[in-house]
Amino acid sequence: MLIISYQQLARSKVPVATLKERAKANPKPMTDERDEFIIQLLHWFKGEFFKWVNTLPCSRCGSDKTVHAGVGVPNEEDRRYGAGTVELHKCTVCQSVMRFPRYNDRALFAVLLEYTGC
Ligand SMILES: [Zn+2]
Repeated sequence: MLIISYQQLARSKVPVATLKERAKANPKPMTDERDEFIIQLLHWFKGEFFKWVNTLPCSRCGSDKTVHAGVGVPNEEDRRYGAGTVELHKCTVCQSVMRFPRYNDRALFAVLLEYTGC
């Protein structure tokens, strides 16, 4: 049951058509078409899927004047999806505190690989 929801989530996020186009457009592709797709998937996953930030923008007022405010306790949903740590970020404008669960669930990556046929 849980695996199916990971597959649905992965399928909704991976731009398969775009990655296939990039694989075909590569002037020096891998000999196996699936290997080339995986290379494109890894580049996308590392370079486009994630956005790296030092602190979270405020979800209440939109300010980027936030500071790291320590760690919090993971709630039930955080733990269900593998988050053992929750970072806290505080807005210096409106004083809101935002939670950022650090997920550590390898099942999502495994499903991505399964989805692509590896
Ligand atoms: Zn704020």
